[in-house]
Amino acid sequence: MKKIFFTPGPSQLYPTVKKHMKKALSEDITSISHRGEKFQKIYAETVSSLRDLLEIPSKHKIFFLSSGTEAMERVIQNCAAEHSYHFVSGAFSKRFFKTAQELGKTAKKAEAKEEGFDFAKINIPKQTELICITQNETSTGVYIPAEFIYKLRKRNADKLIAVDTVSSAPYVDLDYQKLDAVFFSVQKGFGLPGGLAILIISPKAFQKANTIISKGISTGSYHSFISLDEYAVKNQTPETPNVLAIYLLGKVCQDMIKKKIEKVRKETEAKAKLLYDFFESDGRYSIFVPEVILRSKTVIVIETRVDSQIIINHLKTKGLYVGSGYGEYKSKQLRIANFPAHSVGDIKRLINEVRTLNIQTATSSP
Ligand SMILES: *Cc1c(COP(=O)(O)O)cnc(C)c1O
Repeated sequence: MKKIFFTPGPSQLYPTVKKHMKKALSEDITSISHRGEKFQKIYAETVSSLRDLLEIPSKHKIFFLSSGTEAMERVIQNCAAEHSYHFVSGAFSKRFFKTAQELGKTAKKAEAKEEGFDFAKINIPKQTELICITQNETSTGVYIPAEFIYKLRKRNADKLIAVDTVSSAPYVDLDYQKLDAVFFSVQKGFGLPGGLAILIISPKAFQKANTIISKGISTGSYHSFISLDEYAVKNQTPETPNVLAIYLLGKVCQDMIKKKIEKVRKETEAKAKLLYDFFESDGRYSIFVPEVILRSKTVIVIETRVDSQIIINHLKTKGLYVGSGYGEYKSKQLRIANFPAHSVGDIKRLINEVRTLNIQTATSSP
């Protein structure tokens, strides 16, 4: 039986990954020197493919890190000497906020209510250097539309804005020119193995790292913006990187460029609609995020009347793996990833299984 992972990370591999992995192994990618020409070429190709796919401005720098969690730490260290401000809408944005505190910064936050953030009312303190936004909160399925972020940008021209797009990239279409730091890891929307993250920073964010250093404040060590850039200009990383992961990311970006990113995005929206329409029509379920425009297209969070584990276990017997609720919602919710690796057929198969699921029978079976 073909297994399909609708788990929100790690998730289903992008369909071309196996083929690229075989090719990479046959080319001994995993044994080549990370200081040699062959690696530099792979590095340059992946960076250029990312720029093309996401339309990243040429002056923005692209760095390779090991995880989305690491990216939060690097952004805080290099973009805020003292003051950060956070939009908290679930566990990942809370992690971002806590990271700032753990690094000794003065971190302030706005917490989302049921209906999201009231952006017009939020007053960001004057001394704030960095505003942190989790654009797609994977734990709750709360999505912050780009227009909201651009409005914040307008009203806070003097501050840096960092955006976590870990579970929305490459679906989310952002104007990077308006943003100072954007990061994502590759085990979600890119359908790749975990252990690699991308951080995109503006010239202003890079300048800020220099300012922080000139104040005698640490921006970190080997993965400070300055150190990362020293190597990036040579198409290298400070440490021995996961060469295979960088190679695969480049290939998947090229596949998505060939397919056309607009098509990937339209398909994501069509699949999200199938899921939301179904769960809205089935009385046994309700959608967690009430406000339609704040509903994530890539992580669909559904409330269940019965213990969600029963549903999850039943679907497993059909080869379909969906996520449970996050933290306190573990047994009350389902979290379903809708990434580019999931086809319309995969989504229909999932919906069909859920539709025909007889919870009474599922409960009594071991
Ligand atoms: C998964 C996730 C992270 C953490 O990424 P890792 O690569 O697992 O460290 C951060 N933010 C969001 C929104 C996520 O979904």
